[in-house]
Amino acid sequence: MDRKEEVNEAFDIPVAERIYLVETNTKLKKILFLSLPVLLLLFSIIGLRFSRNAKLSSQGNINIQNANNHDHSILGHLPYNEISKDKLVVIEPDIEVHIDMSEDLLKMKEDARNDGIFLIFLSGYRSINLQKDIFYSLKSFRNQVAAERARVSAPPGYSEHSTGFAIDIGDANKRETDFEVDFENTDAFKWLIKNAAKYHFKLSFNQNNKNVDYEPWHWRYEGSIEALKVFEASNRKFNAGKNLLN
Ligand SMILES: [Zn+2]
Repeated sequence: MDRKEEVNEAFDIPVAERIYLVETNTKLKKILFLSLPVLLLLFSIIGLRFSRNAKLSSQGNINIQNANNHDHSILGHLPYNEISKDKLVVIEPDIEVHIDMSEDLLKMKEDARNDGIFLIFLSGYRSINLQKDIFYSLKSFRNQVAAERARVSAPPGYSEHSTGFAIDIGDANKRETDFEVDFENTDAFKWLIKNAAKYHFKLSFNQNNKNVDYEPWHWRYEGSIEALKVFEASNRKFNAGKNLLN
């Protein structure tokens, strides 16, 4: 009898312990199971914040890089693509321009004439090849280094004239001022300063430009989305400069 009790006792204890262990395990599992979604949520929030911060800091790096980097300009001129031929129209003998600006340009000339001002178009679209000839041959002919030449003429691929959205204008009564700063003293120029914006024309190289000489005869068109896109970088550059001056 004693022996049997002993056996029972020996058997009972491990069973009780086992039950206790099983209960503890179940409790632990329950706690784990219940806290799992909370933990997952916590990890995903931390993960999101981390990736967002990483993204922000990399964006910051890009912005800083952009600010430090060159803006792709050469000797003060920005690069421009050549207009596709099907967008060019001949408005006068030897003067071709972008079809988007032809109407406003001709209207501007007509309205000026009605005011007694005789505008004359000196140069419209110029191909990159023609620009190449102008730039290098004149540079050589006048014995100039590139930076000197670039003050008065854009390097090939960097001229607003290749976009079809630029026009050089003179005064028909003062041909001696063609392509001269003195053009600013003509009635034509005074009329343009007062009225050109109505027809979406803007002076490209004004007196504030540090790299390119003042060109009172050179105007560009900003009256269509395509034109605005073409000159977006230039306007940004100019405005950035203006902010720096302020
Ligand atoms: Zn020009």
